[in-house]
Amino acid sequence: MVLTSTLKSQQAPCGRIVDREQYRDEDGEALVTEGLYYACGCRSIRHVYHDGSVSQNVIHHNGAVLVDELFAAE
Ligand SMILES: [Zn+2]
Repeated sequence: MVLTSTLKSQQAPCGRIVDREQYRDEDGEALVTEGLYYACGCRSIRHVYHDGSVSQNVIHHNGAVLVDELFAAE
């Protein structure tokens, strides 16, 4: 995972205003992962698959899954 940006005063999924780090990763199968990690512990993970479909997961810092979605390629 590569740190691509750090932003201050971002609104986390729980509503807190905290610092946020963004990471990016690509594996050998051209799968892209983008992760947003908030200082409070919330995180948002996005996967882009080689067929064009996208999955999105948002996890609250208490461990609750707020969003778990898969968008199929058009
Ligand atoms: Zn949080």
